Amino acid sequence: MLGLYLHIPFCSSICNYCNFNRGLFDAAVKDRYVSALEQEIRDAADGSAADTIFFGGGTPSLLEPAEIHRLITACAESFAFLPGAEITLETNPETSSAERMSGFRAAGVNRVSFGVQSFRDEELRRLGRLHSADRARQAVIEARAAGFDNVSLDLMMWLPQQSREHWQSSVEALIEVEPEHASLYLLELYPNAPLKEDMARAGWSQSPDDDAAEMYLWSLERLECAGYAQYEISNVARPGRQSRHNLKYWRDGEWLGFGCGAHSTRGSVRWKNVSSTDEYIARASRDPAGAGRLSMSLVVERRAMSPEQHLEDALFTGLRLTEGLDFAALSRRYGIDLWTRYETPLTPFLHAGLVVREGGNLRLSREGMIIANEIMQVFV
Ligand code: SF4
Repeated sequence: MLGLYLHIPFCSSICNYCNFNRGLFDAAVKDRYVSALEQEIRDAADGSAADTIFFGGGTPSLLEPAEIHRLITACAESFAFLPGAEITLETNPETSSAERMSGFRAAGVNRVSFGVQSFRDEELRRLGRLHSADRARQAVIEARAAGFDNVSLDLMMWLPQQSREHWQSSVEALIEVEPEHASLYLLELYPNAPLKEDMARAGWSQSPDDDAAEMYLWSLERLECAGYAQYEISNVARPGRQSRHNLKYWRDGEWLGFGCGAHSTRGSVRWKNVSSTDEYIARASRDPAGAGRLSMSLVVERRAMSPEQHLEDALFTGLRLTEGLDFAALSRRYGIDLWTRYETPLTPFLHAGLVVREGGNLRLSREGMIIANEIMQVFV
């Protein structure tokens, strides 16, 4: 079953830590972009079965409900959707209102994922976010009033000047809001992030590494007590409310990405669209064959994965899940005895309790998740 990802690269302002493919909102560019996106979707139509749509960004909630409806319609007319398909809209709280939420719900969206990041106003200001903690709470109320029964919130930990108590208060506030799903991300400071300069200028710092690990472990235990189950390194959900779309990335699934910079994986082929919004629009307008269809020129990278590369990716992504990797099934599928191949490098992690072997299954322990990247080097 395919997942469809639609990238919306517009934001009202640019956060000082953000390394995503995005730019400032411009209404005229947005209009052209939506048309290009619709054309790309229709051009890819092959009637394949699909069961998720994910509007990611950027800030997809800057689009009008009518535009979201137009894009969902293009997907529905191009692919075979099962009843009950999951349709997620990433939403920033400052773009939400009762009217817009009702419009998105009527357009067909049935899951909203709010980029809350923190329930402390001083932390939101340090990140350059436009909303307040109260606006985030209000946005969830608006979503509920509009009929959304599947709401996710993102929080970021290890923020500048964030103590363990500060982080705990944000997690408690999240629990009070009662979302069905939550994602907890560690702030990553990429080289040249403006936030780094802000931190140097203001004398802000992050807590020691050990504190970050404790924040992570504490929040997972606290969320478990509140009825959430961790299913991926950074994600928890109430029963049956895992992100069906994101599970495709972690379970070696297939998806088509539309829009600038979007990635796709189908069969054993991976490809990526041109990153620049302007270039994406320009290329989408090109019609060399004169048949009204896009050429393949939106794609700037394409690679056929060898079985070995496919296996490596499946190991990397699958180990992120709490269900772990079914080594026995993967060994059969790829014709390799994975235990024989990886037993020696995995042994120190198994002895340290960072990796757990149960029958034919291999998974990270919660402590192992803290150093997941190091452990995954075993598979390189
Ligand atoms: S709203 Fe999201 S995508 Fe936009 S700049 Fe901020 S972090 Fe980046």
